[in-house]
Amino acid sequence: MFQKILIANRGEIALRVLRACKELGIQTVVVHSTADADAMHVRLADESVCIGPPPSRDSYLNIHQIVAACEITGADAVHPGYGFLSENAKFADILAAHNITFIGPSGDHIRIMGDKIEAKRTAKRLGIPVVPGSDGAVTDQKEARRIAAEIGYPVIIKASAGGGGRGMKVALTEADLEVALQTASTEAGAAFGDDAVYIEKYLEKPRHIEVQVFGDGFGRGVHFGERDCSLQRRHQKVWEEAPSPALNAEERARIGGICAKAIADLGYSGAGTIEFLYENGEFYFIEMNTRLQVEHPVTEAITGIDLVHEQIRVASGGGLSVKQEDIKFNGHAIECRINAEDPRTFTPSPGTITHFHTPGGLGIRVDSGVYSGYKIPPYYDSLIGKLIVHGRNRVECMMRLRRALDEFVVDGIKTTLPLFRDLVGNADIANGDYDIHWLEKSLAKEE
Ligand code: ADP
Repeated sequence: MFQKILIANRGEIALRVLRACKELGIQTVVVHSTADADAMHVRLADESVCIGPPPSRDSYLNIHQIVAACEITGADAVHPGYGFLSENAKFADILAAHNITFIGPSGDHIRIMGDKIEAKRTAKRLGIPVVPGSDGAVTDQKEARRIAAEIGYPVIIKASAGGGGRGMKVALTEADLEVALQTASTEAGAAFGDDAVYIEKYLEKPRHIEVQVFGDGFGRGVHFGERDCSLQRRHQKVWEEAPSPALNAEERARIGGICAKAIADLGYSGAGTIEFLYENGEFYFIEMNTRLQVEHPVTEAITGIDLVHEQIRVASGGGLSVKQEDIKFNGHAIECRINAEDPRTFTPSPGTITHFHTPGGLGIRVDSGVYSGYKIPPYYDSLIGKLIVHGRNRVECMMRLRRALDEFVVDGIKTTLPLFRDLVGNADIANGDYDIHWLEKSLAKEE
């Protein structure tokens, strides 16, 4: 097992990883920018190293400084959290070259999944159902027209190097295709330095359902069920739940089994998430994330398994603590992402939190790095905490969530808490009757 883990992240996820390390008796080092000197994870860690000024590229993305911090403190492993360097293959390779363990998959697996065309090809080869579309990059208008006619309109043009919902264009008919192809490719070139785009069928009313998987490092794969993350705004998840209200046990076991087998065949090691769009009973792979997800606590709530413990065990060569048959699903969990944003316009609202009171009681978990008097720096993303609620079934979970939202107080800044208070009282949400467009449509109606 590791002696000392360096946590290369900030905010709630740095604290989350720190807690797992403490439970396992592992020493912790955190790195931080000058803007985060007062952060909770810095106060609670055994050691901390300031690695640079506030902009991420000079601190949390500065590989050189992070490796230096490992060497100075004698850390033998790095947990990257999510975002920042968590899906940076070069970072994983550099750590390996320094004999420091990257708590995540190999650089090669990160690379395959970071290129969407390659990822889709790999998924298809491994028997994972994919969205019908081009086999690889499409550059030629004639070829684009032929493929689009074959799969049928509407189609979506996506950037191979895409991420964060950028570089995507929908063509409703052949008349839109030429412009869509050109603009997607130009935008992709400008945003990612790679103008390769591909075409796939545009699904009109899908749900976003993702499967949590793990490779144990010895060629075995397991799944921890799915999460439904269909409530999104600008392709950003807002509310996540497990299990999905749309799946039955047979569908869950089928897609979970396909994913676990794929992970085993790939020889993948560590945590991963295989993301699908789901429509009319069919799953369509869109991408795989090779890291821990923001929404992992809903899976922890229904399985009772600490996924960060498992990541650390696997990375240290100790394998998983569970086999597939030990993973049982119990009840229902919902996570609300609490952002420091205006709940209507979603513009960021940094500033000082004058009062912070979190709900408690059975089935309530709050993962957050903030406290009363904490000043939110304006440099990073606006997530300040996550409220995760568990109940024996979805109805109980929703009742408890409503109560927890009532108790939650964050003063001094605007947050998305009022949005969740509306959602928990909505009939469609109560019925689990929503797709990936539901939230944006519902917000547009209010304007
Ligand atoms: P990114 O890596 O940029 O987040 P994804 O491939 O994960 O890109 O897609 C992000 C979101 O875009 C999906 O959750 C979905 O809302 C939408 N999307 C992607 N592909 C399709 C598709 N074929 N049909 C409909 N919507 C899609």
